[in-house]
Amino acid sequence: MSYVDDVIEQVIKQNPNEPEFHQAVKEVLESLRPVITANEDKFRRDALLERLVNPERQIKFRVPWIDDKGQVHVNTGYRVQFNSAIGPYKGGIRLHPSVNLGIIKFLSFEQIFKNALTGLPIGGGKGGSDFDPKGKSDREIMAFCQSFMTELCKYIGADTDVPAGDIGTGAREIGYMFGQYKRIRGVFEGVLTGKGLSYGGSLVRTEATGYGLLYIVEEMLKCHGDTIEDKTIAVSGAGNVATYAIEKAHQLGAKVVTCSDSTGWVYDPDGIDLNALKEIKEVKRERLTEYKKYRPKSEYHEGRGVWTVKVDIALPCATQNELNLEDAKALVANGVMAVAEGANMPTTPDAMDYLLANGVLFLPGKAANAGGVATSALEMSQNSERICWPFEKVDAMLKQIMINVYHNIDKAAKKYGYEGNYVVGANIAGFEKVVEAMNAQGIV
Ligand code: NDP
Repeated sequence: MSYVDDVIEQVIKQNPNEPEFHQAVKEVLESLRPVITANEDKFRRDALLERLVNPERQIKFRVPWIDDKGQVHVNTGYRVQFNSAIGPYKGGIRLHPSVNLGIIKFLSFEQIFKNALTGLPIGGGKGGSDFDPKGKSDREIMAFCQSFMTELCKYIGADTDVPAGDIGTGAREIGYMFGQYKRIRGVFEGVLTGKGLSYGGSLVRTEATGYGLLYIVEEMLKCHGDTIEDKTIAVSGAGNVATYAIEKAHQLGAKVVTCSDSTGWVYDPDGIDLNALKEIKEVKRERLTEYKKYRPKSEYHEGRGVWTVKVDIALPCATQNELNLEDAKALVANGVMAVAEGANMPTTPDAMDYLLANGVLFLPGKAANAGGVATSALEMSQNSERICWPFEKVDAMLKQIMINVYHNIDKAAKKYGYEGNYVVGANIAGFEKVVEAMNAQGIV
């Protein structure tokens, strides 16, 4: 059996009941076959892949907190510190009832390669909890965040592991966690990114993932002799990534006609009204059912359906496995030209294969949504310098990073005879950088 197949089999055996982790490992290792086959003997002897698929450390802990009625709840907290070959662990904290160890491991594993692609010195990590922030009061959110950080603070630090936001963790949660870290550890340091501007946050961090997604799509289209201007776009999600992807798409002259949340989706033929969306989601924290009150001509549908709309570009920005084979077929039938992942692993493997086989330009999440973590790394740099860079400077750096990511993955794909396959290109480009650092540091 080939080395890749051996390792995939081991991962499935040693990590039972973690389908998302198996999916992420398979997707990466399958596409690395050309590089691994060329170095099979050396990699086997060094157990390189075994070291790559086993986290350096995984932490699981109890998070007790008290609700407004005096009832005690116990959630589970996780932090998976996967790979620190190129820098301190870096990756967000997800707060969602679906969170379990397998999901955090898949996200942390993907993060290794994504972070390598940014060209910045950050390793891969991810954390979270099965806590559901929906419907909780501010005090309950604070109680949870303080309890979560009381344990997590033992394992993180500005030079060891620097978490950030993700699903369910926005500026409010980062603020409560930062406050508790500072209170317990007694240091004011850049231990979290996505902080508020008044206490060490970076301009553009809020917008970074969505803006970065559009910058890389813009560069890809430019290299294919096209532009974003006048394109019709479907976006899923209505959170941080979706909101700022819509904002930048509109600034670049495109029209985004959909958005969604976990209960339903909106179709607005005149283009999503961003002020209304921000008011509903960021200010009032309501459901998308409210959108019709602001835009009577729009449609609200229960359940899934964003990918049935006829568009030129699709940007999945909600969660993993939200775009399946049936959705891919609908998109292709409607003439979609490009799909770029704002979320992490939103496209199922069979859907991805179908899109690629039908000539759709496909940008995988580890490249397409790398703008968020890249700007987090810029926040770390500003914290170390104890200085704040202006919006224009950070935005220009973000744009350049995304342009570089595109050219790196394009080059890596071409080098191994997979021109135009950015999934292979992203995995190879990220892998080569991490492996070089791992080899230089010996067997650790
Ligand atoms: P948010 O919590 O801000 O928004 C998530 C959105 O997705 C919400 O609209 C939410 O709906 C929807 N959603 C969540 N879970 C589901 C589900 N199971 N089914 C359908 N819809 C769902 O998160 P972000 O925007 O920060 O993150 C979105 C994705 O982007 C994630 O995959 C994340 O890992 C990835 N990402 C985020 C980065 C960042 O900087 N924030 C960086 C890189 C990647 P509802 O409001 O109903 O919960």
